[in-house]
Amino acid sequence: AKHESALGGVCFFSEEMESGFTSRRLCFTRIKSAIANQGVVVLYQPQINPVSGDVEAVEALMRLRDDDGQLVSPVQFIGLAEETRLIIPLGEQMIRIALDQLGRWCDDGLHIRMCINISPVQFLDAHFLAAILKAIEACGVDPKLVELEVTESLMMKHLDSVRSDMQKLRALGVSISIDDFGTGFSSLSYLRELPVDVLKIDKAFVDPLRGDPSDDVLVRTVATLAKSIGVLSVAEGVETEEQARHLKDLGVSLLQGYHFSRPVPADQLNTRYSL
Ligand code: C2E
Ligand code: MG
Ligand code: MG
Ligand code: MG
Repeated sequence: AKHESALGGVCFFSEEMESGFTSRRLCFTRIKSAIANQGVVVLYQPQINPVSGDVEAVEALMRLRDDDGQLVSPVQFIGLAEETRLIIPLGEQMIRIALDQLGRWCDDGLHIRMCINISPVQFLDAHFLAAILKAIEACGVDPKLVELEVTESLMMKHLDSVRSDMQKLRALGVSISIDDFGTGFSSLSYLRELPVDVLKIDKAFVDPLRGDPSDDVLVRTVATLAKSIGVLSVAEGVETEEQARHLKDLGVSLLQGYHFSRPVPADQLNTRYSL
């Protein structure tokens, strides 16, 4: 079952949970309990430089630990968390965990960027900017190692209200990445108006790469756009060696996907790959 939220988020439920109000209630209860009981778990998925093989960044991906210890996918709870604004306390825990981890990696001499997904509900909250700056300061990491992944819809619908926050973040060295770039049917004009550092090429554009030269038209276009406006490109959903090679040949800056690694706990992160 699929529930569209007022904010365009989607909450999925498994068959046994499916019954309107009850499943929303259950999802809500799980989120509340995760917030109260340290149930937010963060996994990390590496982004690999295809030329050097070095891991230059990781994307932090949230999970909720269930009562029975199982990890619940964000696909199941982000929509309702946005609708109820519980994404704000969830996101705060997430940010603290991810930045603490970043601090530990830096202490160990591993200087990689930490990419954190920020929902429009979080970004537009009046306290967001102060909260993220405080969190960065508290863990003592270089703001240059922090990257916030936002969506095209945030940029499009709220251009004026996000501009000054983004400029303040940028002034401190925090990067802004556009997640799922190209799927939002949006105008590209915001790219000139906002301090964007990274375009994340959606998996939907990477999937068709199967060796036929005509398969790569959309990926090639985004990679070229990124290069011409001087921002990094990151391909997500890289599942095969062939896709990795093709994306490398197109000059995509970083590759992320199951071909290299699934999202893993911090202690299982591999920091170098051979391509
Ligand atoms: P996203 O930001 O676009 O993250 C990429 C998703 O693709 C992740 O799913 C990742 O596990 C998955 N993925 C990566 N490589 C591959 C691959 O090669 N093949 C396939 N099939 N999938 C791949 P995940 O972790 O389930 O997250 C889903 C979405 O939930 C994320 O999409 C993001 O929009 C949202 N999300 C995750 N964590 C957070 C968070 O902390 N805060 C917020 N606001 N949203 C989050
Ligand atoms: Mg993301
Ligand atoms: Mg994405
Ligand atoms: Mg995506």
